[in-house]
Amino acid sequence: MLDILRRIIQDINAAHDLNEALGVIVAEVKTAIHTDVCSVYMTDSVRGEHVLMATDGLRPGAVGKVRLKLGQGLIGLAASRAEPVNVDNAPAHPAFRYIAATGEAPFHGFVGVPIIRRRKVLGVLAAQQREQRKYTADEESFLVTLAAQLAGCINQAEIRQALDRLNGDALANTLFLEGVASARGLAIGEAVVVFPAAALERVPDKDIDDPEAEASRFRQAVAAELAELQRLSERMRLLLSAGDRALFDAYALLLGSDSLVNGTLERIYAGNWAPGALRATVLEYANIFTEMDDPYLRERAADILDLGQRLLNRLQEAQSVNRQYPDHTILMGEEISVSQLLDVPTEKLKGLVSVRGTGASHVALLARGLGAPAVFGVSNLPPGRLNGREVVVDGYTVRVCIQPSPALRQEYLKLIADEAELSRDLQHLRDLPAETPDGHRLELHANSGLFADIAAARDSGVQGVGLYRSELHFFLRDRFPGEEEQTTLYTRVLRMMEPHPVVLRTLDIGGDKPLPYFPIEEQNPFLGWRGIRISLDQPDLFKTQLRAMLRAGTAHPNLSILLPMIGSIGELSEALDLLREAQAELAEDGVTVRAPRVGIMVEVPSAVYQIDKLIRMVDFASIGSNDLTQYLLAVDRNNDRVAKLYDSLHPVVLAATRHVVEQVRAAGRPIGVCGEMAGDPAGALLLMAMGVDSLSMNLGSLLKIKWLIRSVPYCEARTLLAEVADCDRAAAIRDRANAFLEQHGLSGLLRVGK
Ligand code: PEP
Ligand code: MG
Repeated sequence: MLDILRRIIQDINAAHDLNEALGVIVAEVKTAIHTDVCSVYMTDSVRGEHVLMATDGLRPGAVGKVRLKLGQGLIGLAASRAEPVNVDNAPAHPAFRYIAATGEAPFHGFVGVPIIRRRKVLGVLAAQQREQRKYTADEESFLVTLAAQLAGCINQAEIRQALDRLNGDALANTLFLEGVASARGLAIGEAVVVFPAAALERVPDKDIDDPEAEASRFRQAVAAELAELQRLSERMRLLLSAGDRALFDAYALLLGSDSLVNGTLERIYAGNWAPGALRATVLEYANIFTEMDDPYLRERAADILDLGQRLLNRLQEAQSVNRQYPDHTILMGEEISVSQLLDVPTEKLKGLVSVRGTGASHVALLARGLGAPAVFGVSNLPPGRLNGREVVVDGYTVRVCIQPSPALRQEYLKLIADEAELSRDLQHLRDLPAETPDGHRLELHANSGLFADIAAARDSGVQGVGLYRSELHFFLRDRFPGEEEQTTLYTRVLRMMEPHPVVLRTLDIGGDKPLPYFPIEEQNPFLGWRGIRISLDQPDLFKTQLRAMLRAGTAHPNLSILLPMIGSIGELSEALDLLREAQAELAEDGVTVRAPRVGIMVEVPSAVYQIDKLIRMVDFASIGSNDLTQYLLAVDRNNDRVAKLYDSLHPVVLAATRHVVEQVRAAGRPIGVCGEMAGDPAGALLLMAMGVDSLSMNLGSLLKIKWLIRSVPYCEARTLLAEVADCDRAAAIRDRANAFLEQHGLSGLLRVGK
């Protein structure tokens, strides 16, 4: 059964639209379980109906015509119960509804299983049999397993079809899609779809104007790959047996074969771009091989896929070098990587939309730092069909609007203008202190990691950089930067901000930030080799970085060093030992360095409970609420499936934060927060009430948070904190804090306008 299941899913993925995918499902399921009928009904929630969308066994003319009211019939029963319904004699069942159009009078055995995605019933997969019989438990579980897998594919396809209906008619058909997380703000622009290099199956179709140029691009890729295979085969001559090397010859043969190359060229001349044409051809051939009886030939499917992938990588390499971005780029994809984001010129990047990812993923933080609103976790986004379309990114309502109608477009342009006006109005706060009306002061710092945002921070009167994510520079290179290179870099950063403090964080790679030239393959990257753990295991890299920071600090006393992911006393003392070693090495080289201020990030739960001891070993602490929330709540900060569970206002996160603030203050050291919570109005309000000394956030939030601090008396914020201490749910705390902000005339922080 597993093989059949895999094949069906593969065939569905290769289908071009919803109808084709459903056609594949019903035909293949009917054969797999030897039944007389297999059908799929989809739920039309707008019209409140279950619609027959595909069938193999009922009258073909019934498709699209047979519609049951929600909950009606055995289909409705399976959907409303969200459970399988399996009966041996359907007409005798009280819920049975006879619909003549289906021609189903002679059928008795019935099983219907709901297709559910994220708690929502999308449709029902049903099988029917002439004779009276109950489907076996095995058959039922096969359908249940298939339905669970189908949910993802069908959802995508459903939206794709809706888009087809749009047919370029933006006036009548605006499409709204909801995400699960966002970076606040609004943007309108043109979708530029990117996709990961390693995903042949996910390559979208794209229309092209110049098939000749596209065909020549493809021919060049084939020629380059052939040359590479020959080179590889030569190089392997000494290492591999002739038998093992035969793989290269087989690949070369496939590349020379008419089917693969000509099949792709035909599709290119029919108007698809080379990667899309390649995907369709490769999947078609791989499927033919998968279905062969001979196990050896079946295995060749993997070779075809692999070769297809290699060709795709070549096409992509050539393309990424020449990619042109429109002035208002909305970067869009299944998933967007940090390097894809950094590839867009900052002045052109207006927004981000992706199927996966959340507001706490690093790419989101970076986008926020660059002032680009984003909507993540748009599970039914079909990026492959959206390249070049006009898109509105609404980070306030966490929605994306595709092809806005002229009226809607006007409305959004007005809101964007309002937002710009609010920012302009807040400029007068630029040089005023972040001080509450009753005299409580905080320091507001910027999070940074690129020269562009450092310059912007300096020009907007920020009092310092509270978190400089040094790893971002490592992303922009194709190897680890050396000591000289890093020294120049850090010197420049320190000089740009002088005399304000700059907190340089040591390398925090791993997790969702693997460097392209230092790949880390792990089952659980966030629980794996990350941050300080890598630095301690690779003392060469760590000390190079520390020496570079220290050298930069010789001329610029505004340096502080921050250690990420500290989880134990042992880790911290090892890191401090290496820092001392780095200082001693520099002294040996005749460079006298001053001892920098050193701090730890509190972002791992174990650090929360040892903070009283850890803090005595360093000069300051900074709470990394992004990771702290992730680890305390056991919610992957990148996973949109659980994004709704990720909230830094969860009572447990607040309690842990409060504990850390109290302990650090009791030790007489400064405590700051540099996670996203610091730039979230409700979060900043509660952190201020807890008594943190500084908040570090993306520049876009800074004046808004200053406005908040200057509008809310500290004593009232403390009363609010005491009140919410009794709440046991994040949502209740957020509601209460937001209501408080509204009462203080700060609704402009929560939505657009003042
Ligand atoms: C954090 O975890 O809150 C933090 C600031 O670090 P990063 O987001 O870079 O992991
Ligand atoms: Mg972190």
